[in-house]
Amino acid sequence: MIPPSSAATSAKSTKRGSETWTTEKSSELYGVESWGHGFFGVNKQGHVTVRLQDEESKAEISLHDVIEGLRDRGTPLPVLLRFRDLLHSRITELNLSFRKAIQDSGYRGEYRGVYPIKVNQQRQVLEEISEFGKRYHYGLEAGSKPELIAALAHMHDPEAYIICNGYKDEEFIDLALHSQKMGLKIMLVLEMPSELDLILERSRATGVLPNLGVRVRLSTRGSGHWQESAGDKSVFGLNAAQVIQVVDKLKEVGYLGCLKMLHYHQGSQIPNIAAIREGCTEAVRMYCDLVKEGATMGVLDIGGGMAVDYDGSHTNFHSSCNYSVAEYCSDVVEVIGQVCDKAGVPHPNLISESGRAVVAYYSVLVFNILDVTSAQTSEEAPPIPEKAPQNLINIIEVNNALSEKNLQECFNDAVYYRDQMRAQFFYGSATLRERGLAEAWFWHILTRISKLISKLDDIPEDLRELSSTLVDFYYGNFSLFQSVPDSWAIDQLFPVMPIHRLDEKPNQRAVLADITCDCDGKIDRFIDKEDVAKILPLHELKADDPYYVAVFLVGAYQETLGDLHNLLGDTNVVGVHLENGKPVYTHEVEGDTVSDVLSYVEYDPKDLVTRFRNFAEKAVVDGRISPKERREILDRYRAGLAGYTYFES
Ligand SMILES: *Cc1c(COP(=O)(O)O)cnc(C)c1O
Repeated sequence: MIPPSSAATSAKSTKRGSETWTTEKSSELYGVESWGHGFFGVNKQGHVTVRLQDEESKAEISLHDVIEGLRDRGTPLPVLLRFRDLLHSRITELNLSFRKAIQDSGYRGEYRGVYPIKVNQQRQVLEEISEFGKRYHYGLEAGSKPELIAALAHMHDPEAYIICNGYKDEEFIDLALHSQKMGLKIMLVLEMPSELDLILERSRATGVLPNLGVRVRLSTRGSGHWQESAGDKSVFGLNAAQVIQVVDKLKEVGYLGCLKMLHYHQGSQIPNIAAIREGCTEAVRMYCDLVKEGATMGVLDIGGGMAVDYDGSHTNFHSSCNYSVAEYCSDVVEVIGQVCDKAGVPHPNLISESGRAVVAYYSVLVFNILDVTSAQTSEEAPPIPEKAPQNLINIIEVNNALSEKNLQECFNDAVYYRDQMRAQFFYGSATLRERGLAEAWFWHILTRISKLISKLDDIPEDLRELSSTLVDFYYGNFSLFQSVPDSWAIDQLFPVMPIHRLDEKPNQRAVLADITCDCDGKIDRFIDKEDVAKILPLHELKADDPYYVAVFLVGAYQETLGDLHNLLGDTNVVGVHLENGKPVYTHEVEGDTVSDVLSYVEYDPKDLVTRFRNFAEKAVVDGRISPKERREILDRYRAGLAGYTYFES
């Protein structure tokens, strides 16, 4: 227990006074300019905007208006908005940046990007990429048989690559070889030495010579969360000894001419450009020596890993990155060009498999706040009892002594006496009523402290912890596990903010809780330029006015990694894009119903109704409910089954 502190500590601070709040201040507070990449902004009405673009026009669309439009159409929240214009824009940026880097440095190879399907496998994404990507011959990377099967139905550009990674069985290999025969540019990547025999056997059986790639395991480690993906302990790829064995084997059977590509993947979200340059250097050294070994080569595939600046800090923090797309491209092209020149090897064509960097911006999750439980519940001073235990008297005295100059001291003392009271209660020397009164005084003191703190411009370091106990829980109508799993699984940060009322100062200090009853179902780490913030400033709820919060940059990995925790299912999904300067809603996909999610876990909705009906009939027979009540109750049950899994209002 903390003993009562006596020294008067004074928290130096400047007061905010009665300054007026502006939308610019909101934009700064939530860092929109830093992470929004020019796609997101704040307008004069205090709404978050998204900048959409079609071939002819550009416009900034208010997300609040989009959501109101959906509500009018009867689509309930939570909803996942997908903006195909942002996807197009990222594909363009990636391809043009490589083009520019190639021109600027006089590089003598071409760039052909591929999109790794696993990052967001939704059909809508695959369709957009194969349609829009045509102009750049942008291809696909498949890491499994189902992904290859989806790719083969959508990607028919003979100039675009289809890269086949992952474990390959006979069916997988045959599909790849036959599709190659039909005119597609398919690369079969050896992930492990044992795959070679099967590929050679299928090649002889089908009469198709494969385009072989070899995935190498670099000794250079990545950086950030996935640094183990590369390095000696990584599970995929061939080490140097195995690469040599493969080369010798190919020589022996006369297939060395089929070896055309070297591939590596350093892991995802590599925040540090130095790690990217290093990986690239090691890989291109291997590439050059494979050329010298007599392999055909011609293509170097640098994998994924390009990071997204989720927190907008532009640093090598794990949820950020210290480089832009343009810098990534010019560094890669420069390193590869230089090493090849030195070795006297022709410049290879380049493939990159950026997934996260291409689709993260594409989706935004929007949900409404259902309720707030406030720590600051006690504005009014509780009563002063006539007779009370000393600890209760002490806590009341702490309240009397509280001023701006002794916040920390009073906080410590209040905690101390409250805990003393709890101990006294535990041992039977204080009543529940007395303990209750002490806790009411405790909350009253905290309420006053938080008011005083909110006037401080900078919360002094020693009051930080205090301030993080004074949070309000905002209950959002969403499931973290379904919609933002990486926030839970790997502590990844995403930008979160209200999408309206940004012309008002957000006075509440919030933590977001979802509607799963899991104590992990909360977001309590937020982006911050220098650190990780423990609270999110939000506005006070207004009666009868919905309050909308959005999580941004959730286009990569979140959708299919999400699960059915508490049986909260897929959210509604709506595509929004611009046509002639106006936003159009397309691709509305209804989220899971209760009956959908129950059938995923093997319940039969019909059987559920039967069982419940039998139970209700028994209640009628026993005289607990009337037949009419039975009908109403059953109607409710059926409506529940047919409804959305989220909170419906
Ligand atoms: C996951 C993966 C990618 C995509 O990585 P990002 O970091 O999303 O760009 C690319 N290539 C391979 C082989 C992968 O496994």
